[in-house]
Amino acid sequence: LAGRDGYQFFNQEVRNEMLHQHHLAGRLQSLLNQDGGGELSLHYQPQVAARSERIESFEALLRWHSPEGYIPPSDFVKVAERTNLIERLGDWVIRQACRQQAEWRAMGLKGYRIDINISGRQAISSDVFTRLEAYVEEYGLTPRDIGIELTENVLIDADIKVRDSLRALYDRGYKIAIDDFGTGYSSMSYLKLLPVTALKIDRSFVIECAQEPKDRAIMEATVFLGHRLGLEVVAEGVENEQQLELLREMRCDLIQGYYFYKPMAATDIQRLLLGGNNPPNRASGALASDK
Ligand code: C2E
Ligand code: MG
Ligand code: MG
Ligand code: MG
Repeated sequence: LAGRDGYQFFNQEVRNEMLHQHHLAGRLQSLLNQDGGGELSLHYQPQVAARSERIESFEALLRWHSPEGYIPPSDFVKVAERTNLIERLGDWVIRQACRQQAEWRAMGLKGYRIDINISGRQAISSDVFTRLEAYVEEYGLTPRDIGIELTENVLIDADIKVRDSLRALYDRGYKIAIDDFGTGYSSMSYLKLLPVTALKIDRSFVIECAQEPKDRAIMEATVFLGHRLGLEVVAEGVENEQQLELLREMRCDLIQGYYFYKPMAATDIQRLLLGGNNPPNRASGALASDK
């Protein structure tokens, strides 16, 4: 009897989850039909030089503020991938980021790259890289203005067509970062084969690095490996002074995390940059909020 109840309970959970995903997919689809994306927006999280603490670039991060509350990208990107909406969603992100970059440049805010996340299904199922270049051209940008982030698994699974596209982007001067480095497949041979320019140390290694010697060892080895390969090394999820100090000692190049800045709306970024891009005054506790 207990077993049968357990089985039914499980069925109900799966059913609810499927309904929820179906609901999200429908809503997402109608947002993508709206000009401007409706409830969707991009936030931008600064990446600062470890030494000068000045902003060098931004990571574009999807935000969905629905009337029922905030829906995290980790939830709906997954749904978009399962329902073939990822192509349109990804296209919206690329276009929005290019448009924003053009707007900032027109305001005189130049020299700040915007990095876009590209998910697995997006990389294999479409001509995403061609479209990226088309938008860069349409908005009068150069390859230095836009970068991309891909996870290890995407890079390893990449077929010859995707590899050729990445090579072409690399040759034209686009920055290509490996996101969440160290959390995917463990093979390193792809580092020899693929055209990338940066490694992003995953937040999971950064969180407890002050207490955990093993996390510290992995971070240090990543910085060393990255530099030996001629790559830039970025740390994500830096939240406190101890983490920052360790990364500085290890000579990590760029720092991204709440300790400096949370992801922010474009208007907040503008205010920050127009104010002179000075290192943040952390003592004031006046960090802009996310979501
Ligand atoms: P990701 O690419 O690894 O992005 C970094 C995540 O870490 C972001 O979460 C960011 O808000 C968060 N983060 C940054 N600094 C800190 C920190 O100091 N502390 C903490 N606790 N978190 C920090 P977010 O925005 O929720 O995005 C989650 C994931 O969703 C991203 O991970 C990325 O895989 C995916 N994603 C977001 N936007 C897009 C997009 O436009 N396209 C695609 N394909 N995926 C996206
Ligand atoms: Mg990323
Ligand atoms: Mg990341
Ligand atoms: Mg991550």
